[in-house]
Amino acid sequence: MPPDLGRPLWSEPEEPYLAFPKVTLHDHLDGSLRPDTMLDLADAQGVTLPYDDGAVLGDWMARVISDPPEPYPHYRFAVTTSLMQDADSIVRVAREWVREVAADGVLYGEVRWAPEKHTAGGLSMADAVDAVAEGLRQGEEDVAAAGGMIMARQLLCGMRETRLSSRVADLTIEKFGSSVVGFDIAGPEEGWSILDHLDACLKLERAGVPFTIHTGESDGLRSIGDTLNHARALRLGHGVRIIEDVSLNGVPLDVRTCVHDVAAARAAGRAELTVGRIARSVIDLGVPLEVCLTSNARHVVDDRQNHPVDLLYELGFAVTINPDNRMMSRTSISSEMRHLHELFGWDVSQLAKAERVAVDAAFLGEAERAALRTRVEAGIAAVTVPAHRTSET
Ligand SMILES: [Zn+2]
Repeated sequence: MPPDLGRPLWSEPEEPYLAFPKVTLHDHLDGSLRPDTMLDLADAQGVTLPYDDGAVLGDWMARVISDPPEPYPHYRFAVTTSLMQDADSIVRVAREWVREVAADGVLYGEVRWAPEKHTAGGLSMADAVDAVAEGLRQGEEDVAAAGGMIMARQLLCGMRETRLSSRVADLTIEKFGSSVVGFDIAGPEEGWSILDHLDACLKLERAGVPFTIHTGESDGLRSIGDTLNHARALRLGHGVRIIEDVSLNGVPLDVRTCVHDVAAARAAGRAELTVGRIARSVIDLGVPLEVCLTSNARHVVDDRQNHPVDLLYELGFAVTINPDNRMMSRTSISSEMRHLHELFGWDVSQLAKAERVAVDAAFLGEAERAALRTRVEAGIAAVTVPAHRTSET
């Protein structure tokens, strides 16, 4: 079982997959604050938030309730990052992130965030990186004190909409080591080409520092192709629109309707799936997809049941399971696993395969990866899921 750190915030009281050993690769620090912590930080900083009740604030952050009137920003991340402009606040949020994911059954986690968003209070980007490192270290100690063990690492994000990615890449290379294990490009995909960030990618590649890139979420195949062929990312953040390089009876799939269209074609007795050139290289090279089911169900498709995750798995893509933004998406990996079982019938062996893919995809050195693999395999061997939840019974 996970260490006794309380129930993860964004999960059901009885999550059947809580004890399943997990790796989280796509998990945003500024999308995972505890609402009560936001209230504490706001109080300490003399900031007024639109709601002074943690539960209601959490509903707003998760878009369960609509926007309050001005002057509160529509963009939720502007609220969370505004509260993380001093070292103590950043340390606290990073520490709590570790506790939260450990309670979710995570044995290894990479948390990503953008240093350029945390300098308004006078911190340098390097200071902010050190604060996250300290928070992760404290979180690891908390988990150990509770009887668990977790490795928590950070990825530094450059943003598509600014021109700082090259500087963030320099910082990643400078800080690469025990806490910083890689880099990411985040921010709005459509209209902000990855080709404007090749300088950062080339630097990282030459330095042997791994990186992932958000792609194939709001933009389609060309963006994914550029990410693979020009930026040469090792993993694809989301990447789910790669399904649009697969044709059904000669017609390219639409990510929004593909689940329905393939099911209908199969029911009609003719469903020939043809994998295109870009998708074929993603499959053959085993480029991991950082799939975020619940988050994608808001931004890519209109419902979890219309997500192509099961189709991607069936076609041989290297699928991993991630929360994206735990607070904004109101999810945990335990919840994502439950949805995969309930919607697509994923069984323990499929969930285990996704976690094994994630172990292989982690930005770790070989010795640490081997140690993680041993722990994940031991955890999988010990998994017992309530009988009514398993599709094998
Ligand atoms: Zn993301």
